[in-house]
Amino acid sequence: MNKNNTFPSLSTEEAEKIVQELGNALDVQRNWTRKFQAMLVCRTKPRATDLNENTHRKTVFGRWYYGNVNPLLRNHSDFTAVGGNSERMHDLARGLATAVSDGADVTPAQYKAFMNSVSRFRVSVRKLLSEAWESLRYTDPLTGVMMRTIMHRRLEEEQERVRRSGQPCSIALMDLDHFKRVNDAHGHQAGDQVLQSIAAYILGHMRRYDQIFRYGGEEFLLLFPNSATSNAKGVLDRLRRGVKRHKIDIGKSKKLSVSASFGLAELHPDRPVRDSIKCADQALYEAKNAGRNRVRVWRPEN
Ligand code: GH3
Ligand code: MG
Ligand code: MG
Repeated sequence: MNKNNTFPSLSTEEAEKIVQELGNALDVQRNWTRKFQAMLVCRTKPRATDLNENTHRKTVFGRWYYGNVNPLLRNHSDFTAVGGNSERMHDLARGLATAVSDGADVTPAQYKAFMNSVSRFRVSVRKLLSEAWESLRYTDPLTGVMMRTIMHRRLEEEQERVRRSGQPCSIALMDLDHFKRVNDAHGHQAGDQVLQSIAAYILGHMRRYDQIFRYGGEEFLLLFPNSATSNAKGVLDRLRRGVKRHKIDIGKSKKLSVSASFGLAELHPDRPVRDSIKCADQALYEAKNAGRNRVRVWRPEN
């Protein structure tokens, strides 16, 4: 399976949970290292777990790492590195614990290798942690999707991938239909609830590697890596039907549903990203003119 080197579309809640879990991992590992060093210095009896071949799976950290971890974290390439570093650290620790248990010497080289493995482990966890923080920093507080500030960077990364791999990538602009009426009829707060609910619906129903950004107001940009427009159109039609069916609770037992229009275009490999966004915007304009609640694909002759 492909591994990600960024977190695609983490919701605020997910990112907060990941930040908390990685922070715990660092605390737990620090405590373990302290106790382990005390054992080495005082040459007390090593704990049975530190002599075990599978220690890396049995520590509090190991149980978390090999347990029920958020798939977005599990599929991150740096997460695999953290596991490898933890295993190496515990292998070296076992060598030291065995020496103490046998009454043998611990050489400076052995100790140095162990301490280096401890720093490598901590650096790899911190790297993941800072990415999860970054994902939080770029999350729109109202809708929980990524902000426009990070969108251009992500689009340029995708464009680079298109150039390298020759695989197409599609983008879509999504705009809620007659959204002003929602605000006018039910108030701005209900409008906010609609935005939150629709963003959560899309986050929950798009494919794993697709991404969504808040483009502004009631407009969102969707990114479909490795997808030609013919492929992304199918996905968008499914999302569009789902949005229309989705019932939004706005309190006082009132439920609303809204529709959305979509303009789809391929991300051009060589032209500036904003040109491809303009194409998607033109297609969106056509979707609106054609009666809303539909997907239009940009065509050069349009
Ligand atoms: P159309 O189908 O043509 O897109 O019609 P529309 O009413 O959705 O479009 P219009 O651009 O006329 O209105 C968009 C409305 O979205 C107006 C603005 O007040 C509202 N809006 C933008 N951002 C927010 C927000 O964060 N919260 C709420 N509640 N409303 C917002
Ligand atoms: Mg709009
Ligand atoms: Mg609108």
